[in-house]
Amino acid sequence: MTAANTTALAITELRAALGADALLTDVAQLNVYECDGFTIPRAAPDAVAFPRDTPQVSQAVRILLKHKIPMIPRGAGTGLAGGTAAVSGGVVICTSRMKTIHAVDLRNRWALVDAGVANLALSDKIKGSGLHFAPDPSSQRASTIGGNAATNAGGIHTLKHGVTVHHILGLEVVLEDGSVHVLGGPMGHAAGPDFAGLFCGSEGTLGIVTRVWCRLVRRPAAFRTALAVFDDSQDACHTVGDIIAAGIVPAALEMMDGTMIRVVEEAFGFGFPAAAQALLLLEIDGIEAGLNEDLTEIQRIAKAHNARSFEGGSDARRRAELWSARKKAFGAIGRISPNYCTQDACVPRGRLPEVIARIAEICVSHKLRITNVFHAGDGNVHPVLMYDEADVAQTRSVLAASGEILRYCVGIGGTVSGEHGVGIEKMPYMRDMFSPDDLEAMHRIRRALVPLDLLNPYKVLPRDGVEIDLLSPRRHVPQ
Ligand SMILES: Cc1cc2nc3c(=O)[nH]c(=O)nc-3n(C[C@H](O)[C@H](O)[C@H](O)COP(=O)(O)OP(=O)(O)OC[C@H]3O[C@@H](n4cnc5c(N)ncnc54)[C@H](O)[C@@H]3O)c2cc1C
Repeated sequence: MTAANTTALAITELRAALGADALLTDVAQLNVYECDGFTIPRAAPDAVAFPRDTPQVSQAVRILLKHKIPMIPRGAGTGLAGGTAAVSGGVVICTSRMKTIHAVDLRNRWALVDAGVANLALSDKIKGSGLHFAPDPSSQRASTIGGNAATNAGGIHTLKHGVTVHHILGLEVVLEDGSVHVLGGPMGHAAGPDFAGLFCGSEGTLGIVTRVWCRLVRRPAAFRTALAVFDDSQDACHTVGDIIAAGIVPAALEMMDGTMIRVVEEAFGFGFPAAAQALLLLEIDGIEAGLNEDLTEIQRIAKAHNARSFEGGSDARRRAELWSARKKAFGAIGRISPNYCTQDACVPRGRLPEVIARIAEICVSHKLRITNVFHAGDGNVHPVLMYDEADVAQTRSVLAASGEILRYCVGIGGTVSGEHGVGIEKMPYMRDMFSPDDLEAMHRIRRALVPLDLLNPYKVLPRDGVEIDLLSPRRHVPQ
């Protein structure tokens, strides 16, 4: 039987198992699923399946296993590393119909949700209880909790409250053979190896997350939000290091460069000074006692580094306005560039001043425009490289500059990802971070769980002898 006939047979069986309305096969519809959020690599799947619950996911996986067809898990498709591109063809298994919040236990502070529940939907559901689900990626209105677990998403408040893995008590997963497993649970990791931890950040390469036990934590009782404006981004970077060195751990400590300030200001009119070269937006939270003292100290540090203005306070409206400015920043870039690539790497926080300067140099050498909006407190840089995808040479420059930036960050002791994951875009640079022995150990773990290599193949872990051109990824992997 030809590959096309095998796929057609599998699609017929999937339709019978999941229902006629649970499958997309039309080419125009499939093109919507060729990539995730703002990523360069594109590869449309042969079909998209929308199971409604865990038994349907398991059924779909068993059918695809029988026909040896690759399966690509997908949540809301907001990923920023190309993790959902179907580079070896196959069927996307999308969790967007799995949206049930099954249980909320406020006394024991957990919730059990389907993988397709949007991050913010959980906190909205328990509004007024004093508790919330803490991971807050800027995509939280759309991105799914399953996707957050799969990418180990961070967010604005990661600095103090941790990334997704710190807020996952357990996962239900479907493996390549269709078997269903519970890793951890409402009591969290109990004994033996932390297998839920292993699945967090595995980006769909080990199994499909179907349900998640989420830790619920108390919303902070009090907060202070501050905005410090600088004429020089180097001064802002030094301020970040000195705040942490003073023993203060803000809940969030974000930075925008001059270009981003002007773009956000033009789009939304938040009142940011158009001539500024950098701003720091930060929040301290906890119990009321001590917050004013910490705010005073932060102001002193910012002024010592030449902040031209500093505002701080506890006004809830101003707080909402400032964080909305930060969360809308990426969307506003569309006003000045048809396309952009958001890179993501972590560097030692103390080296931020030289990192920002070096990233700018790299982009200038590739003749690319760049702006920065990032989680400065975590040392998690997000250079935004602007380009026009109709210009192939410019798109290639973005890929080359991104590679140079990632290698530089790893070279000074950083990582290839702060929060967006590796996907396919950053896969080659895993070799810069890990030794061949490290990577082989990771491959061995995957081979044990995914012996037929059908779950999101050619993602995260580079393979010897396989170099994938991100502009035509399907041409470079066995189909
Ligand atoms: C405007 C914008 C802002 C963003 N801000 C942040 C931020 O602040 N912090 C941050 O960390 N990220 C951020 N992101 C990136 C993205 O939102 C996160 O990576 C998010 O966790 C992806 O969730 P998703 O449901 O969209 O997953 P998708 O994009 O659908 O998938 C991402 C990866 O996870 C896998 N996957 C998805 N669901 C499952 C599942 N159920 N089981 C197994 N594997 C699965 C996919 O195969 C893929 O490899 C942002 C993206 C955008 C567009």
